[in-house]
Amino acid sequence: EVKRSGRNGWQFFTPTMQIVSEKRHQLSNKLAAAIINNEFTVYYQPIIDLNTNRISKCEALVRWVRNGKQIATDEFIALAEETGRINEIDRFVLATATDFVANLTERFNYPLELSVNVSPRIFSCKDDSLNKWLELITNASRKINVTVEMTERLLIEESERIMWVLTKLKAIGVTIAIDDFGTGYSSLSYLTKFPIDIIKIDQSFIRQLGQQTIPESLTEAMIGLCHKLSLDVVAEGIETPEQLSMLKLWQCDFGQGYYFDRPLDAEVFSERIRTQSEAKFSHNK
Ligand code: C2E
Ligand code: MG
Ligand code: MG
Ligand code: MG
Repeated sequence: EVKRSGRNGWQFFTPTMQIVSEKRHQLSNKLAAAIINNEFTVYYQPIIDLNTNRISKCEALVRWVRNGKQIATDEFIALAEETGRINEIDRFVLATATDFVANLTERFNYPLELSVNVSPRIFSCKDDSLNKWLELITNASRKINVTVEMTERLLIEESERIMWVLTKLKAIGVTIAIDDFGTGYSSLSYLTKFPIDIIKIDQSFIRQLGQQTIPESLTEAMIGLCHKLSLDVVAEGIETPEQLSMLKLWQCDFGQGYYFDRPLDAEVFSERIRTQSEAKFSHNK
C-alpha cells in the first residue's frame, strides 16, 4: 500500500486513509444499488410499557444484508447521510413498517404503535423530499399511531423550519421523541421550546446503572426533569434486571433493550405480538 501510494502520488492521504476512503467509496456505490435491489429490510424492537410490562410500541430499525453479510447500521447510516441517500431509506422504512404494524394490529387485535427514526437531513433538504416524507407520515398516522424519533442536535440548528415541521407533525397527530437524549451538545431550553412528547435516554447512561453513582444520579434527575415537564421517558439499552429495577424505582415510563428483546425480524416479532395478544386475552377473562 505504501508503494502504491507513492506511485500514485497521493499527498494528503496516508495509506490507511486511502483504504478507508476507497472502502467508503465502494460502499457508497453499493448503497445506491441496494435501494434498487431491495437489499434493505426492517427489524422491529419492542418498547415495553414499564407500568404494565406489555409491548406498547416497536422501533423500526433498518438492516442491510449484502451477499449474506449484515453491514453495521451505524456505519451505513452515516454514509447515507453524507450522500443524501438517507431520505430514500427513511421513506422505505416508514412505508414498510406502517404496513406491517397496521397489519399486525388488525390481525391480533393488539394496539401496537410504531416509532421510526428520521434523519436530521430531511429538515435541510429540498421541499420536494420533505413533502414526500410528510405525505407518507400523514398516510401512516391515518392508520396507526406514529412516533418520530430525532436527535437533539437537530434542535439547535435551523429552528424555524424545524418548528414548522414539528408543528405540522403535531397537527397530524404524530408523537415526537428525542433520541439519544443526553449525548448531544445542547441546552435544555429546547425541551420547552419545541412540541416534544417523549425523551429517550441514551444507552450510554443506562449501561452504567448499578456500576457508577454519577450516571445513576443523572438518569434519576433526567427522569424527574422530564416528568416535571410532562414528558414521557423511554430508557434505551436495558440489558440487566438491576438496570430495570432502578429505572422502575425512578418511575421511568418505557423501556427498550436486549433484556426484553433484541431487534427482531418481521416473522419473529409477529410471533411475539401473537403471544402478547393471547396473554392479554386470558388476563381479561
Ligand atoms: P437508535 O435509534 O438509538 O436505535 C437504538 C440502537 O440501539 C439500535 O442499533 C439497537 O439495535 C440498539 N440497541 C437496542 N437495545 C440495545 C441494548 O440493550 N444494548 C445495546 N448494546 N444496543 C441496543 P442499530 O439498529 O444498529 O441502529 C443504530 C442507529 O442507526 C440507530 O440508533 C439510529 O440512529 C440509526 N438508524 C437505524 N435505523 C434507521 C432508519 O431507518 N433511519 C434512520 N435515519 N436512522 C436509523
Ligand atoms: Mg431511535
Ligand atoms: Mg437511541
Ligand atoms: Mg443511537
